[in-house]
Amino acid sequence: MHIEASCHCGAVRFSCEAYAPAPYLRCHCSICRKLGGGGGYAINLGARAESLRVEGEEHLSSYVVKGNTAERKFCRHCGSMLWAFDPTWPDLIHPFASAVDSDLPEPPEAVHMMLGSKANWVRVDARDGETVFEEYPDQSLEDWHRAHGFLG
Ligand SMILES: [Zn+2]
Ligand SMILES: [Zn+2]
Repeated sequence: MHIEASCHCGAVRFSCEAYAPAPYLRCHCSICRKLGGGGGYAINLGARAESLRVEGEEHLSSYVVKGNTAERKFCRHCGSMLWAFDPTWPDLIHPFASAVDSDLPEPPEAVHMMLGSKANWVRVDARDGETVFEEYPDQSLEDWHRAHGFLG
């Protein structure tokens, strides 16, 4: 699925082809919470790195967590988190759902991950039958999308 996204101030716009466009996976880890998840979690999508087109690249900055290889790209003017890229998996990028302007497919369920590091004030809104994980989930973004017929 083709998705269009931008930062809040408009200095950076990007588009890409998402193979995993459904925003179902809520990550409650401390990195996601502090960088892009005001509600206590962030949602990343999966897209092909080769399809990434960026306008306003000169306004980008990136943040690499110490001891980690993933680069998180954000607008250096307004601070919007835009996407993550890990050179360990150079074919993929992970757009933050919060930056996406296109209508994304509505996932039939949410999966709640990294609850072992969630903030105490976060109420996990897990409905009946939804899965929760203390750490990483048992399915990759691609596996979940394939299993639910959302693979783009
Ligand atoms: Zn901006
Ligand atoms: Zn996280």
